[in-house]
Amino acid sequence: MLLRMSTLFLRTLREDPADAEVPSHKLLVRAGYVRRVAPGIYSWLPLGKIVLENVARVVREEMNRIGAQEVLFPALLPRDYYEATGRWTEYGDTLFRLKDRKGADYLLGPTHEEMFTDMVKGEYSSYKDYPVTLYQIQTKYRDEARPRAGILRGREFVMKDSYSFDLDDDGLKRSYEMHREAYIRIFDRLGIDYRVVFAMSGAMGGSASEEFLATAPTGEDTFVACRNCDYAANAEAVVTTPPPVVRTEQPAVRVLDTPNTPTIETLVDHVNEHFGLGITAADTLKNIVVKVRTPGSDKLETLIIGVPGDREIDFKRLEAFLAPGVPEIFEAEDFARHPGLVRGYIGPQVLKSLGIRYLVDPRVVEGSAWVTGANQPGKHAAHVVAGRDFEADGTIEAAEVRAGDACPRCGHPLSIDRGIEIGHIFQLGRKYADAAGLDALGPDGKPIRITMGSYGVGVSRAVAVITEQRHDELGLVWPREIAPADVHIVGTGKENQIEVAAQLAETLESRGLRVLVDDRAGVSPGVKFKDSELLGLPTVLIVGRGLAQGVVELRDRAAGTKEEIPLAEAVDRVLAAAQA
Ligand code: ATP
Ligand code: MG
Repeated sequence: MLLRMSTLFLRTLREDPADAEVPSHKLLVRAGYVRRVAPGIYSWLPLGKIVLENVARVVREEMNRIGAQEVLFPALLPRDYYEATGRWTEYGDTLFRLKDRKGADYLLGPTHEEMFTDMVKGEYSSYKDYPVTLYQIQTKYRDEARPRAGILRGREFVMKDSYSFDLDDDGLKRSYEMHREAYIRIFDRLGIDYRVVFAMSGAMGGSASEEFLATAPTGEDTFVACRNCDYAANAEAVVTTPPPVVRTEQPAVRVLDTPNTPTIETLVDHVNEHFGLGITAADTLKNIVVKVRTPGSDKLETLIIGVPGDREIDFKRLEAFLAPGVPEIFEAEDFARHPGLVRGYIGPQVLKSLGIRYLVDPRVVEGSAWVTGANQPGKHAAHVVAGRDFEADGTIEAAEVRAGDACPRCGHPLSIDRGIEIGHIFQLGRKYADAAGLDALGPDGKPIRITMGSYGVGVSRAVAVITEQRHDELGLVWPREIAPADVHIVGTGKENQIEVAAQLAETLESRGLRVLVDDRAGVSPGVKFKDSELLGLPTVLIVGRGLAQGVVELRDRAAGTKEEIPLAEAVDRVLAAAQA
């Protein structure tokens, strides 16, 4: 492959795009790899398209290696498949729905479990046919609430999705393990720095689902890791260890005058000063009201969540817990409709009589005593005991997870980091096979219900993630396997230098390298150098002023090193760098 910048469809920009916040977005736009069409919708220009294909190739090779077979489904799908599993509705506002000219309902596929299940059902019938794993690399559509960061979170994006079909649980575990290993190879080859973390609560069976998170300060996912054992989990999946129940004899509930205590801090100070209770924020019970929308209905349920006052609600944990229900802010007009709820002074003592569902953080154990709202303006109540003065309808994992919290497995303190989800492996079980009635005829003539796994890699997201992790103030820094070319040969200045650069390019191409040559006439050396730094190819060869003395300059983009070498050695040195 030989690309010539004199004709390459490429324009680099000196300025960051106005809407870009994260480095990958800024750099991929500035370097002319992608262009924005609409929020979360991007076009790929030649260099970007090559990088995207390189990522897809790595994914494809590793999927083929585990015996997965590639197919391709349409993105435009009729409603009935998704109706049968309830996802037409459950997907909520994230699903792109549309109608054809006859008024029939269609959707743009956000993920394809239903379609793969149906395809396997159509082709296979005997237990002898199984197991099978199918995959595709295809465009997905999700009307994300917060499309952001360019191609990191798109509304149209490229995903590799695969699905395994097995006769029994052991088979599913094997398919899952094979995917796990394939994903490790994929992300290692892509040069991504990542962690494998639990994606589901341990209560749901440990390794039933894991995420591959690329570590990045700009990441939207928060994950915890234990420094003592190997436990690591997405914050959404962290299960709180309830403290032991210590029953101390508690006095009866006492209502306290607490004027001008709008925050937990002022409340704690006030009750300690005026009533000598000696409490901290962790002894107060804060009650947050939300309304929960059920997708596909207008029904809004009022829900109150009780958490210790030293913790905030983590909205992502709340969303994950309530899904497919969608939590919304409880507004002033909602309070107006619920006169029983005294804003700022809500206590759980009255919620049963109001008929409002109340879920508490697992730290609110039976017998624990709290300072909480007294359901009267300006008043709080002390010695409010769980199980005595109020009854919760259950627990909820919605409180923020903090560094230093106890590891659910070994009790040591957890650390917290941020990451970007690049892959997800999931033992689905029989949900979709049940919906589609996917059975294999067993050796005894009895049907066997198939069990499934589903596995995703964010192919377009990976391009942004690699950029996010590898760049400097000058531009992109591609790992060789993904780079749009192995070497960037820059001919500066005189015609002769450009000519030699072009010759070197042809020679290196004939030796099997992928080459980009800057053969533009009338472009200053400074601009060419800036472009080569911005474009980020692993090896750069400068054919410039030194040519008169028979020397060229070899640069390593990642290491930032420069070396003058004899022209006669240039081809061998670039080849050696490419093989290193
Ligand atoms: P997220 O939590 O980031 O929204 P998800 O859990 O909804 O992702 P999955 O349904 O597990 O995503 O999809 C599989 C993979 O597809 C993800 O691991 C991610 O790499 C990628 N992906 C998901 N949503 C997007 C998006 N909007 N843009 C780009 N890639 C995406
Ligand atoms: Mg996921």
